[in-house]
Amino acid sequence: MEETIAAVATPMGEGGIGVIRVSGAEAERILLRVFRPAQRLAPRRFSYGRVIDPESGETVDEAMAVFLPAPWTYTREDVAEIQCHGSAVALGKTLELVLRSGARLAEPGEFTKRAFLNGRLDLSQAESVMDLISARTERGYSMALGQLEGKLSGEVRALRERLLELLAHLAVSLDFPEEDVEELSRAKTAEILQSVRAELSGLLATADTGRILREGLKVAIVGRPNVGKSSLLNALLREKRAIVTEIPGTTRDTIEESLDLGGIPLLLTDTAGIRQTEDRIERLGIEKSREAAEDADLVFFLIDAAEPLREEDRAIAEAVRGKRCFLLLNKSDLPQAVAEEEAAALLPGAELLRISAEKKEGLQALEERIRALVYAGALQSGSRPLVNNARHKALLAAAAEELDAALALLSAGEALDLLEMNVRAAWERLGEITGETAAEEIIEEVFRRFCLGK
Ligand code: GDP
Repeated sequence: MEETIAAVATPMGEGGIGVIRVSGAEAERILLRVFRPAQRLAPRRFSYGRVIDPESGETVDEAMAVFLPAPWTYTREDVAEIQCHGSAVALGKTLELVLRSGARLAEPGEFTKRAFLNGRLDLSQAESVMDLISARTERGYSMALGQLEGKLSGEVRALRERLLELLAHLAVSLDFPEEDVEELSRAKTAEILQSVRAELSGLLATADTGRILREGLKVAIVGRPNVGKSSLLNALLREKRAIVTEIPGTTRDTIEESLDLGGIPLLLTDTAGIRQTEDRIERLGIEKSREAAEDADLVFFLIDAAEPLREEDRAIAEAVRGKRCFLLLNKSDLPQAVAEEEAAALLPGAELLRISAEKKEGLQALEERIRALVYAGALQSGSRPLVNNARHKALLAAAAEELDAALALLSAGEALDLLEMNVRAAWERLGEITGETAAEEIIEEVFRRFCLGK
């Protein structure tokens, strides 16, 4: 029998209440041992009472508690929840009593893991629980909610079913190797392979959007001193909601800020901290720009359009070449000294926008360009769910590769039975997304990243 587990499910700190969750066959017995309800405890009814030390009889806290019998609980096991006062002392003492009464401290993610093992959630749904908890924007939250509701799982299951059908078809065609049956089989096989492959491409096309909505779009602001990098950062921060994060700046020389741009978390790195006068430090500035750009999904390359271009502008352009860049011609409120063609030649292929960080002009257009960029993949993919998880993306790509291999065998005129291995591998990779064919280590790995009490 599984052990009964317990943990504090709310953050440790000062709160109105704090919740201790207990899950497993012993939940009710343990609850009754540490909690004295004022009236008889009824299932699914909150009861008022006292948490007491069963050995000394001492009162530890005033609390509310509920017992939820299996299977209609988060873990599908018997669950007890005790709502203490939200102090670390009350929670710590109560948890200790629960543990002394026979529960074991839950590992991070263990409640959700049990929900998965007991079939309440599939693996991708379980993963979305963590995303729900850590979502930083409403868009990220609703994406996680969609995944919890099984949008991605549903799509993946449908694709697996078609591959299974194909596997059955391949098995049958082996038994009837006549010419005309074979021809029909090849046509049908090609059709299924291609359509599943196309669905996978569609899902994969959403992966960048999904990742960005979840983790944020990393933007590096680069440009020589005094072009207006700090002014732009400040203008954006004043206009938009700043996101409070715990991501520390990578170096003393750069400032990192997060803001919510219409649901897109923007993680901005400004290299303005570098003050350059000497040649050596100038080179450092260019080096820093290169480093910041390397890490970024998008580079804002600022130039001061009110002054002729300088050698330094060209050096920084060189440093960020090859990255996706927005070339921002700042100080559009002043008389212009840089022609657009001249600026465009600096960074061929970059999107060019005129802005004034000071007057907050052009920021709306900038925002629209960012949005278009982030949603590009997802828009092509119609109403498909967004893939927002690196693990899912890798598995979808691996499945797509197997199908490509199968298609190559087919068009090379190979016998149908040779395709079976690739098709089965694709079916298995997709099953790892939902956890149906995932190995124990993968499942362990997924839940290891959870927080305590979830
Ligand atoms: P950084 O060194 O690149 O961070 O540049 P700053 O943001 O410190 O700006 C340098 C100077 O340019 C400051 O005096 C700003 O007030 C000024 N500045 C920045 N953006 C604009 C703009 O759009 N228009 C005008 N007229 N001045 C600006």
